[in-house]
Amino acid sequence: MHPHRQPPATAIVTACLLALAMAGPADGAPGDATATLARAEAQVRIDPEASRRLAEQALVMLADAPDPGAQAQAQLLLCEHHAERDRTEARRRLDAARTLLASAARAGLHARALACEAELMESGGDGAGALALYEQSVLSAERADDRAQLAQSLFQRGYLRGVRGEFANGLSDLKRAAALFEALDMQAHLTTVYNGLAILHNRMGDAAQARSLYERALRQQESDGLERELVVTWHNLGRVNETLGDWPAAEQAFGKSLALARKLGYARGQSYALRGLAAATNAAGRPAQALEQLGQSAAAQQGLPDERLRGQIQLQRGIAMVALGRRSEAKAALDTALAIFERAESPAEVALAHRALARLHADQGDWRAAYRALEGQYAVSDRLLRRQIDERVAALKLETDAAARETELRLLRREQEATARALEQERVAGQLRTTTLALGAVLAAVLAMLAWRLRRTGLAMRNLAHTDDLTGLPNRRDLLSRLEARLAAAGRCAVLIVDLDHFKRVNDVHGHAAGDAVLRAAADVLRDAARSPVAIGRLGGEEFAILIPDADASAARTLGERLRAAIAQMAPMQAHPELRLTASIGAALSRPGEASSDLLRRADHALYAAKSSGRNRVELAAE
Ligand code: GH3
Ligand code: MG
Ligand code: MG
Repeated sequence: MHPHRQPPATAIVTACLLALAMAGPADGAPGDATATLARAEAQVRIDPEASRRLAEQALVMLADAPDPGAQAQAQLLLCEHHAERDRTEARRRLDAARTLLASAARAGLHARALACEAELMESGGDGAGALALYEQSVLSAERADDRAQLAQSLFQRGYLRGVRGEFANGLSDLKRAAALFEALDMQAHLTTVYNGLAILHNRMGDAAQARSLYERALRQQESDGLERELVVTWHNLGRVNETLGDWPAAEQAFGKSLALARKLGYARGQSYALRGLAAATNAAGRPAQALEQLGQSAAAQQGLPDERLRGQIQLQRGIAMVALGRRSEAKAALDTALAIFERAESPAEVALAHRALARLHADQGDWRAAYRALEGQYAVSDRLLRRQIDERVAALKLETDAAARETELRLLRREQEATARALEQERVAGQLRTTTLALGAVLAAVLAMLAWRLRRTGLAMRNLAHTDDLTGLPNRRDLLSRLEARLAAAGRCAVLIVDLDHFKRVNDVHGHAAGDAVLRAAADVLRDAARSPVAIGRLGGEEFAILIPDADASAARTLGERLRAAIAQMAPMQAHPELRLTASIGAALSRPGEASSDLLRRADHALYAAKSSGRNRVELAAE
């Protein structure tokens, strides 16, 4: 029995009261025993210990005037009472009830016995076995036409189905239970079922809907003064807020649950509330305090059979130990939690345990193990999400079937709203996927741009290696490689070397910066005058070279003259428009098979000749 849920015994309070009222004391049970039993049933929610004492008193009274039906009812009430406290005692009460039932007339009690046995199995961690028994219990209640017990059995089966991830079937059971309780005007039970529905919504990933159902239940229970139920509902509200990551709200809800549970001496409620507070404390980064709370939680749980709670405590212990760097203890706690959750087939909690283990492995630097644990988490979360979606679709189908029944119309509307919200969530998830795709595209674009920039940088570096900084003309290396390529291809060509006359004076008179500007102006003039297929470059200093493919002597001389004239006409300095510059030019025509160095040397000789015969002239080397 989880404290999320209300004690099943109460489910049949009304039915039993009705049955007893109709039968009256005349059917064999003394009137005071009947009344005592009725009071015991009524006290289950309000004061469980009082309820137990009354049931035991009724049994004592009935010992004198045996009534197998009433005795079995009292034994089952005690079975339900002990199911969450002392399983051996619960089992003993169940066996006693079974013996009595062999001769009891009330068929609905068989269903109740099956339900109590199922509960014992469930709290022992055997979900599949419990489900099979709840199934039998539902069938038995249907056959007996015991509507209150049917509602209770449906509620318990629906709850467990929800735990096991069968959300659609769980919803259907809970809704049938709600319709029955409503028809029987059992308001408190209806509230219990709403709590169950809230838990299911939470499991289906609709925590917000769950929260509003709990808040509704809180109001009802507060006005009815059902304090023990309030312990449970406050706790459940805490869990939902835990799921939503709303830690302050979670802490407040767990705190209220704990205070009330302490006031009632309700150990199990304290245990659950303390675990919740520890989760909030862990989330706030206070692992030492969380451990303390978990210690209290475990102590309160002592002797109370609830595997999943033990798993949850171990999970939080593990998380706290990881934070404290106590790794081997963390590992042991998390492994225990994982095993418990796996056995209970609780996928959401299995995923949480995997995540905590991943954190631990990562802390230890064991990335391989961390990756494996994360993979485990994703696999489980993925399965859970897929199941949530499948079950939502199935739930929608069940909803449509149910639409015919008028009593369920109200629930249907609520469910459709929930489904619409679920679909909205899926839509948001879809948008997220789109965003992820878009981010992928952006990443690809960024990579492409980086690749392009890399290429461009490469090209720029290549250009840099082949360009003269000052003038932007191809440099000596570039020009020589072209000349060599040309000569290697056995092509004829002419080479002109242009050397500015008395350039040193420009530097001396106007400064080096002015000299630079003049060099740039001269380069521009040469570039304009020597167009493709002519190639031009700066050899260094105030010397330039021009390469003319397929040129004969007259073509070389013509271009040489044109360049010389262009230099002579230019006004190289804006600040001194009167300043004139001249250049001497040496030219040579390539000989077949001639090396570039020889050709350049002959052009250089011609240049020297031009200088020595007065400058500002073109001299052609002998062919
Ligand atoms: P000539 O008519 O005999 O060629 O006389 P010149 O002064 O031009 O010849 P010389 O080779 O004696 O001097 C060349 C000068 O060019 C020397 C150097 O200061 C200058 N020079 C070389 N490179 C640069 C440069 O990049 N910038 C500037 N401002 N001056 C340079
Ligand atoms: Mg020179
Ligand atoms: Mg010179």
